[in-house]
Amino acid sequence: MSIPPSHPRYQSLRMREKIAEGVTRGIVHPTGLIAHGRGEAYDYLLGEQTISPAAKAERAAAARMVNASHPVISVNGNTAVLASEACVELADATNAALEVNLFHRSEERIQKIVGLLEEHGASQVLGMDADARIPGLDHDRGQCSSEGIARADVVLVPLEDGDRCQALRAMDKTVIAVDLNPLSRTAQAASVTIVDNVVRALPAIARYARQGAAMEPWDNHACLQECRAAMCRLLRLSDEPEEEPYPGGQPG
Ligand code: ATP
Ligand code: MG
Repeated sequence: MSIPPSHPRYQSLRMREKIAEGVTRGIVHPTGLIAHGRGEAYDYLLGEQTISPAAKAERAAAARMVNASHPVISVNGNTAVLASEACVELADATNAALEVNLFHRSEERIQKIVGLLEEHGASQVLGMDADARIPGLDHDRGQCSSEGIARADVVLVPLEDGDRCQALRAMDKTVIAVDLNPLSRTAQAASVTIVDNVVRALPAIARYARQGAAMEPWDNHACLQECRAAMCRLLRLSDEPEEEPYPGGQPG
């Protein structure tokens, strides 16, 4: 299908097409379609733009990656088809390692994703050599590379599952999540949650890293509240009166 760039939802439709092609090419697991659909819905609620609390989180993420001794970017199928080039650019900007790490692990899919990252200029991609484990996760989901995620102090996990995010936190790692859903378990468990589309978030982190983002304290809970408030504001009709996003107190 060819989508004319003049189509009002061109970017979104292109992403949908890339994910669908990714399934056909065996790069994206079929459940990746569902994850993408959920992401699209939340992106709609953000006006398909980077809201200001997300930009702040991107800056905080850049500072943590630049100051890390061993930062790692974990790449899955959806991230690879949507943002391979941005992954490689971010790895370059922050001196991070790239590791393919899949929820539905298959050697063939890992190989294809490694190939895609290499096509976009990656010199070394970890993931085939899964010789270490994330404690507390069942066999397949807990596999990782001893040179990558296992020894990382900071891990960037775009579109992660809640369980794995919690397991990485339990290993005392700083976990930076990119997740359009501010309510997900991943968003709640991460050290820094970026409520933005991975296609906007990764280039933004790289930009902040190159500008030299300074390390400052980070309140992730407050950031998530701001993201939810921004969604509420976008949902409000223009003729509705301004009001507190959570009348009677914030949700627990
Ligand atoms: P959790 O396991 O964290 O509770 P979940 O089970 O609801 O969340 P998963 O399928 O594990 O969700 O992960 C997919 C997540 O990725 C969803 O929250 C979805 O909103 C988000 N997502 C999908 N596409 C994108 C994208 N392009 N950019 C950022 N986030 C995305
Ligand atoms: Mg999940």
